[in-house]
Amino acid sequence: MAPIPTKVKLAGANNTLTIQWSDGHTSAYPYHFLRDRCPCATCEGSGRPSQKPTNPFPMLSQKPLRPDRAELVGRYALQIFWNDGHSAGIYAFDYLRSLCPCPECDAQRLAKSD
Ligand SMILES: [Zn+2]
Ligand SMILES: [Zn+2]
Repeated sequence: MAPIPTKVKLAGANNTLTIQWSDGHTSAYPYHFLRDRCPCATCEGSGRPSQKPTNPFPMLSQKPLRPDRAELVGRYALQIFWNDGHSAGIYAFDYLRSLCPCPECDAQRLAKSD
């Protein structure tokens, strides 16, 4: 069975969102890392004209980016509500797990891609 999150901590050390998995693994995702990988149509479809005017300097916007809350979507995904109002990104568990930036998972990915 694929691992599922047993615990989600929005505010971890060093601006990370921390997920504890059912197989005992822990993943710590820096906020910007997660947001950069937002799977929603708006973020994915760069190059497509968007209805809303976008901030040309997102890194210079008033508030530092962080997730306000996260909600489980069914039994397969996590929806993250960012403090800038963006909440369209639904991160499937297997997608989240495949993003895990820890050295252990990094090594596994390297082994697989070879
Ligand atoms: Zn998005
Ligand atoms: Zn990992």
